[in-house]
Amino acid sequence: MKSATIRGLAGPVPIQKIICLGQNYAEHAKELKFEVPKSPVIFLKPASAVIYNGEQIVMPAISNDVHHEVELTVLIGKGGKNISRESALQHVAGYGIGLDITLRDVQFEAKQKGLPWSLAKGFDTAAPLSEFLEPSLTGDPSSLGIELKINGKTRQSSGTNKLVFPVDVIISYVSQFMTLERGDIIFTGTPEGVSRIDHGDKLEGSLIHANGNILTSLSVSVK
Ligand code: MG
Repeated sequence: MKSATIRGLAGPVPIQKIICLGQNYAEHAKELKFEVPKSPVIFLKPASAVIYNGEQIVMPAISNDVHHEVELTVLIGKGGKNISRESALQHVAGYGIGLDITLRDVQFEAKQKGLPWSLAKGFDTAAPLSEFLEPSLTGDPSSLGIELKINGKTRQSSGTNKLVFPVDVIISYVSQFMTLERGDIIFTGTPEGVSRIDHGDKLEGSLIHANGNILTSLSVSVK
């Protein structure tokens, strides 16, 4: 069983479902030649895809084009159904940084055929996760910076103020359809700058406070 850690709090939280947003930054939707969606695009990853700081991404042999996507992650602390936008942030236990590792060629082929693309996003090691920080430490979730360096070079850098659907809207929307539970995680979508990763690459994702301080970082390498 995979679990999430909240800095400063004893006891890990078992991870339930992982809910992910697609095309939730306009510039990223453009780079993949999609239209910016009118309602949230939702897909799931299995909890078994999670790895932690210091671990390795293992690229499945079925893909020749594995992409990085750095994203703000949200850990649900208090469950609920039909959660209002106004009360949505009260359900959050913490924020972190995550990587939505994607088999882009497998995803595109499935999309073209109108088939589900679960394998492209749900394979083992496809969900590297940092620790989570309580909302009192991060401040407004629409004020955060997210960044990804590969081998020391910045490849993605953006802010959660650019989310098409912000965290409170995502929680409210998803909870109309899926009951949210303690231990659920939301990947809120990636900004522009996605590209392929290769064997031996070192990926470092960071979550940055509005004041410029790095709140937490996540380092993983590609086997
Ligand atoms: Mg993504």
